[in-house]
Amino acid sequence: MTRFLRRGLNFRKAWSGVVYVAACASLAAIALLSGASATKAALAAQKTLRVYFVDVEGGQATLFVTPEGQSLLIDTGWDGNSGRDADRIVAAAKSAGLSKIDYVLITHFHEDHVGGAPQLAARIPIGTFIDHGENRESTDGPTVQGWQAYQALLATGKYKRITPKPGDVLPIQGMRVEVISADGALIEKPLPGAGQENAACKESETRPADKTENLRSLGTFITFGKLKLLDLGDLTWDKEMELMCPVNKLGHVDVYIVSHHGWQQSSSPALVYGIAPRVAIMDNGAKKGGTPSTWDIIEKSPKLENLWQVHFSDEGGAAHNVAAEFIANPPGTDAGNYLELIGQADGGFDVFNSQTQETKKYPAR
Ligand SMILES: [Zn+2]
Repeated sequence: MTRFLRRGLNFRKAWSGVVYVAACASLAAIALLSGASATKAALAAQKTLRVYFVDVEGGQATLFVTPEGQSLLIDTGWDGNSGRDADRIVAAAKSAGLSKIDYVLITHFHEDHVGGAPQLAARIPIGTFIDHGENRESTDGPTVQGWQAYQALLATGKYKRITPKPGDVLPIQGMRVEVISADGALIEKPLPGAGQENAACKESETRPADKTENLRSLGTFITFGKLKLLDLGDLTWDKEMELMCPVNKLGHVDVYIVSHHGWQQSSSPALVYGIAPRVAIMDNGAKKGGTPSTWDIIEKSPKLENLWQVHFSDEGGAAHNVAAEFIANPPGTDAGNYLELIGQADGGFDVFNSQTQETKKYPAR
């Protein structure tokens, strides 16, 4: 069955209550519905996992929606800008048929991850926040500010809060979300099927331990049927080495959500070649994220089919940015375009670029 939601224009237009139905008899009834309920019912019928890579200008905001309509947002983008990032997240949520976000996971307390939380909470109901515990970077002004605003939000008593440890599985239905890293701790044992020696450790230099919130990132391994995705927030190179050397504790994944917006403090060969993704998706901004050396590592990854970027990166220039069709926001005026991954339980998936309106298919192997 073909996808029938009208793509693009922008989220708001898609959400205006109009649902486009393909010439598919089994879905005829859905045409009678409108708005969120129709979208939700239609998505459930498709049995796909939808992952929106919202453009928050070099921060993170990645929204997962299961076929049953359960939702997990990883990070909330930045504060300020009249709620720009929160508005974009809400538009994605509504496009997916959500009227609330069940879980909001804050990977760490830097302003490009937790900053948007108060503005988001003012715009859409949230069920539970998930985070790594205390802010560990009390000397950085913007981090302390973001942390305090988040604490004020939790203090309202409106939300549940979970502070999981590595190895915990989050209580989200319809996909499996296992915690890999949290507050500087990592899983001790390899995931099932993993644990092989990692040849890429030899190619990865040893780097000093990070001292910021980055290494505290709450990282997750997400499984939907046979489809595997990895999100480690801004987890740093030193922690990657601990996680992936001498044995690879993660095994292979299909999709690598590029750590730290593609900056060179993350994405060691030990991690990238160890997990050997088919596709990497980088949530960089025009002027934040996307270091040339990181591209080089990712592009050389043995099983990589494509790298996608939320933005063209000024730093990367023509030499490193991927082809235009794989970039959601080209140079010039920023339109806040998104990428969307549509995952199937057989392990196949599609990637849709809202800028080009094109979808690329990655059939199950
Ligand atoms: Zn970040």
